[in-house]
Amino acid sequence: MKLRFAPYSLPLRSPLQTAHGAIERRDGFQIWIGAGRGEAAPLPAFGTESLAECAAALDAAGAGLARAPAPETVYDVEALLDSLPPAARFGIELALLDDLARRRELPLARLLSKDAGWEVPACALLGAGDAAALAREARAAAQGGFRTVKLKVARGALEDDLARAAVVRDAAGPSVRLRIDANAGWTEEQALSALRRLSPLGIELCEEPVSDPRALRRLRGATAVPIGADESFAASSHREQLFECADVVVLKPSLLGGLLSALRWARRARERGIQPLVTTALDGAIARAGAAHLAAAILGDGPAPDAGLATGRLLAADLCEDPAEPRDGRVRIGAAPGLGIP
Ligand SMILES: [Mg+2]
Repeated sequence: MKLRFAPYSLPLRSPLQTAHGAIERRDGFQIWIGAGRGEAAPLPAFGTESLAECAAALDAAGAGLARAPAPETVYDVEALLDSLPPAARFGIELALLDDLARRRELPLARLLSKDAGWEVPACALLGAGDAAALAREARAAAQGGFRTVKLKVARGALEDDLARAAVVRDAAGPSVRLRIDANAGWTEEQALSALRRLSPLGIELCEEPVSDPRALRRLRGATAVPIGADESFAASSHREQLFECADVVVLKPSLLGGLLSALRWARRARERGIQPLVTTALDGAIARAGAAHLAAAILGDGPAPDAGLATGRLLAADLCEDPAEPRDGRVRIGAAPGLGIP
């Protein structure tokens, strides 16, 4: 099999402020293997390899794949992916799975699970800066059919987070779920105070209030706000331990080394009574489609929190037409084979 890859750089419509700093653009690689498409967009701040390390890994993997026959099963796919860093592994696996699903004439979600759902409810990530724009964005999301919206917090003063969350709650209305994401921007003490004060707004979930698993465990149940482990889960070498520290684990397949690995973690989480939540990592349309098919496969095992798939509109340009664009707050998995990219 021949692997080709090419760099891309996609600007965001406006910088997304997070506790790790502002994200202004996403840089990565498009990947082609057979008829399959893949994408690798490292996020070193979230524990992946750097862009240069990713390129070197893709190069090296290409040399190995050149001698390998096309895989016939998902197990064959995994056997080809030994010892690759997470973003490169995700990108190559995605292209191999897309190619395999196309040859089998199945949507990728059905290759992952015969019980995969056909519709994935999505959460809208709100990126606006000032209060008026944030209110407009939240109202538009609710009117557009999203049942869950998400707000980044812990980037500055707690009063600012409280004000922004109140604006969103007000604009979106009482029936929309409000999710927050601190990206570990708080100390444990700040997190406890913030969650106590945010709780009356009805918070569905707080992703990554802090990064220390012991502190996460203490915050779990300390207020009415459920706790999600995101970066700390992806970066941990003892991920099973995080199941004791959180109500939800956030699965970003590009940080976990691929869809198959993320699907296994989702199933392990469910066995422990933890909910699996799939999100993109602000990727281009190819990786977002991969995350959508993963989320559909996971819904085959039972309900899950609304997936973080509605991030494409934050990008000012994209890699291809979006096969997984949410409509009425849902991503529909069509009958088209593979990722559904024409
Ligand atoms: Mg997060």
